[in-house]
Amino acid sequence: MPSVVYRTCTLCEACCGIAVHLDGGRISGITGDEQDPASRGYVCAKAAALRDLHEDPDRLRYPMRRTGSAWHRIGWKEAFAEAAAGLAAVQREHGNDAAAIYFGEPFVHNLGALLFADALTGALATRKRFSANSLDQFPKQLVSHWMYGSGLFVSVPDVDRTDYMLIVGANPVVSNGSLMTAPNMKLRLQEIRRRGGKVVVIDPRHSETARIADEHHFVRPGTDALLLAALIQCLFAQGRVRMRHLDSIADGLDAVEKAVADFTPEAVADRVGIAAETIRGLAHAFADAPSAVCYGRMGTSTVAFGTTTNWLVEILNIVSGNFDRAGGAMFPNPPVDVMRLQPPTERGRWVSRVSGTAEFMGEVPAATLAREIETGGAGQVHALVTLAGNPVLSSPAGHHLSDALGRLDFMVAIDFYLNETTRHADIILPPTGPLEHEHFDMVFQLFAVRDTPHWSPAVLDPAPDTRSDADILVELAAALYRTRGAVGRATALALKAIDAMGSARVARRVLDVALRAGPYGNGLRPWKPGLTLKQLREAEHGIDLGPMRPCMPDRLPARASRRIDLAPHELVADMHRLRPTLRPAPPGLVLIGRREPRTLNSWSHNLPSLVTGTNRCVLHMNPADAEARAIGPGDQVRISSRVGALEVAVRVTDTVAAGVVALPHGYGHRGNGLRLRVAAEHAGVSMNDLTDPAEIDPLSGNAVLSGIAVDVERCTAPSRTGVE
Ligand code: SF4
Repeated sequence: MPSVVYRTCTLCEACCGIAVHLDGGRISGITGDEQDPASRGYVCAKAAALRDLHEDPDRLRYPMRRTGSAWHRIGWKEAFAEAAAGLAAVQREHGNDAAAIYFGEPFVHNLGALLFADALTGALATRKRFSANSLDQFPKQLVSHWMYGSGLFVSVPDVDRTDYMLIVGANPVVSNGSLMTAPNMKLRLQEIRRRGGKVVVIDPRHSETARIADEHHFVRPGTDALLLAALIQCLFAQGRVRMRHLDSIADGLDAVEKAVADFTPEAVADRVGIAAETIRGLAHAFADAPSAVCYGRMGTSTVAFGTTTNWLVEILNIVSGNFDRAGGAMFPNPPVDVMRLQPPTERGRWVSRVSGTAEFMGEVPAATLAREIETGGAGQVHALVTLAGNPVLSSPAGHHLSDALGRLDFMVAIDFYLNETTRHADIILPPTGPLEHEHFDMVFQLFAVRDTPHWSPAVLDPAPDTRSDADILVELAAALYRTRGAVGRATALALKAIDAMGSARVARRVLDVALRAGPYGNGLRPWKPGLTLKQLREAEHGIDLGPMRPCMPDRLPARASRRIDLAPHELVADMHRLRPTLRPAPPGLVLIGRREPRTLNSWSHNLPSLVTGTNRCVLHMNPADAEARAIGPGDQVRISSRVGALEVAVRVTDTVAAGVVALPHGYGHRGNGLRLRVAAEHAGVSMNDLTDPAEIDPLSGNAVLSGIAVDVERCTAPSRTGVE
């Protein structure tokens, strides 16, 4: 084994190239890979934490069974048999939908888990599928499904060539892009300015991104749809709509014009909190720039009008002539074309029995999981499998969900942490860590601003008698089929073949075929040249396949007749729901989330290198709001919403707009039975004890996590907290 291994960091969507330095089989350091074509040596502070993660003494490595509140190590064979027996018993008694499955975000950073998840979902045969998708990104994917014909065909800002970037409800300097794989966003945004362009941020916080922008405008949380509608209305009113080559392939432009007609800058200004002249100026600047792109993210998705807001982002890019062209919104051409390899995305084949929300891409809203467990009748959830997820901290009213999980008949967690969610499991099946198995990023190439595939070898040998996620998924599926005694011949043969070859080898074979069948491959004609896994493995820093290229209408999914639907009727109709929000905002404070540079998901709080320094789990509050409530810097306050209350220290800061308070997410590491010793010392409070599971975007089912009405008052016996 060489002393340096190059691979991608799998901690977040940026997929930076990393160099893992080894010294006698141990990781001596992790640095940026200077020759990685996407990240060019950049890594954030979190990359080094991969070593902490690998060495974390709290990480589980072997199966565990819970008896009462005690956990005992058991063997794999026994664990799979018990897990399968528990799930099968529930399904036998209550039907297949009585067992639910929840996929956490890390699942998509794991090739083996992605490839073999279907083995388990096929074995469970349940329609109760939940994931982190409906906590942050379904609005964008549903818009793509309706407009372009696939929820996997997602437009991405061409940040490296644009002259004007309008960033709405996103903080890419901290996230390094989300639904936009673009390492070192700070440098990329600075480059826009260096080449004479402009960066404009619309956000209720003067975020890290706003700090390096040319302009920042505070906006009232949840009103981005109004602002975007007004920008589009300006373009129509001033005759600045330019459809360019989309003219002949896009339908519904008249319906769009009609839908935004009432949303003039004057009509929305008060509610949005931005003056009408400023809105008009933004529309002019966007339309006049040589190229421009609007990018919206969490703040545009985790709101009651998430889908409509994301639609209006697409429309602004399209009608301003900045779609499918360099510097505008474009589509990656990933080497593994997941969209074409998957069946078409679907919506509405069934509805959530508790919220009535239409299924999308086989999932129902994560926000409804607790209600699915608590609401009796056909289809009630009695058992759950979680895969790399901690919905107790990531989904609305997490404290309530935790109570509901405690009432399940049976639960299995595929996870290497004993956390706020997995502590309710009966069996935990812990997988190996990210450096102990091979990886190729299939998901985030779909969102990459530059196509740069990279094969990641395993860096370290897994410990004896451990299993990868892929192994666990396949073995649990096989155990379930065995227990139920009902398995088709094709499934039996497939599982046998995987078992005989090993999941890693099967994954490599599948990937090689997918690459050969992809846009840079040989079309599965062996005599022709084309991208193969062998080439990828030989290119230790990855391969640069270049920037995004115009692709309309060729890459539009055939199902949509290779046409763009600018005005899906559900979205046009939703503008009628939006109109009443033009009324003045109700008085009081609203809560938004805040992403901190050194934290990621909840598990990152157990990594010592990411929690050093000052307490980050504090409430940010504008000075005017603090003064009105006699709250001083560092005071302990009680913050309450319709569904919960918590106490936290305050930082008084003008980086949040008046009327807005901000908390980071993923904290709240309290309660019995956790094995998160570092996180427990930085426990903080969970923002999701305040968010309301009844509040969802009705179109996508996405949770509303931003703009929550709250009251804040100083605790009667204030304790100084050291927060300035
Ligand atoms: S930005 Fe994301 S991918 Fe890049 S080093 Fe940091 S955590 Fe890893």
